[in-house]
Amino acid sequence: MKIGIIGGTFNPIHIGHLVLATEAMKEYNLDEIWFIPTGMSYMKSQKQIASARDRLAMTELAIAGNERMKCLDIEIKREGYTYTYETLEQLHREYPEHDFFFIFGADCLYTIETWKLPEQIFSQCEIIAAARNGSLIEEMKTKATELEKKYDAKIHLMPFMDLEISSTVLRERLMNGKPVKYLIPDAVIEYISENKLYKD
Ligand code: NAP
Repeated sequence: MKIGIIGGTFNPIHIGHLVLATEAMKEYNLDEIWFIPTGMSYMKSQKQIASARDRLAMTELAIAGNERMKCLDIEIKREGYTYTYETLEQLHREYPEHDFFFIFGADCLYTIETWKLPEQIFSQCEIIAAARNGSLIEEMKTKATELEKKYDAKIHLMPFMDLEISSTVLRERLMNGKPVKYLIPDAVIEYISENKLYKD
């Protein structure tokens, strides 16, 4: 099968992630999308990050009922910092029959070379990078071509709508008591409220 992977902190998961998944599935004929909440990121301050257990639970609630979407806890279970190349190694070990497509937003195209062992990421999956309307598409094409040449990578630039929504903005709204309905799935909003997340 063709499997799309969306890794993320998902702090919290929101409609931007879900629409991104749906769009990539349709555009590249992917059979399933697997969401993989990150364990510990060495690139982010852990201060404002909800626990792995909570982020996993919210991701599971967000995709519940969609048979073509799954949530994997493999990064959360792994000790130490989370590295994408290790996740891909594990996926290939456990699911040698599948082809993997790593999906991310435009920003990651510019940072991926700073991730650990980018050459091993590119050799284990194809990349789908979402080009928001506001993205400088010509600039993205230049970067993608550069990476393709340097790493023998396969990169697809997927036109994507401008959904001006981010987990950071949502956490701020939650902290300030502003509504997040329709921006976050209802079941996730309930979970946040019941577990008193993002209060301060
Ligand atoms: P995140 O903020 O939780 O978001 C997940 C993905 O959704 C990102 O690619 C993000 O793209 C995209 N996204 C969010 N809001 C969007 C919107 N409104 N429209 C379109 N796309 C949207 O994820 P993250 O914490 O940056 O992590 C992304 C992945 O990179 C994770 O799997 C992480 O492990 C991996 N990573 C690996 C390393 C490493 O191996 N060393 C280092 C850094 C990250 P944007 O970022 O463009 O918003």
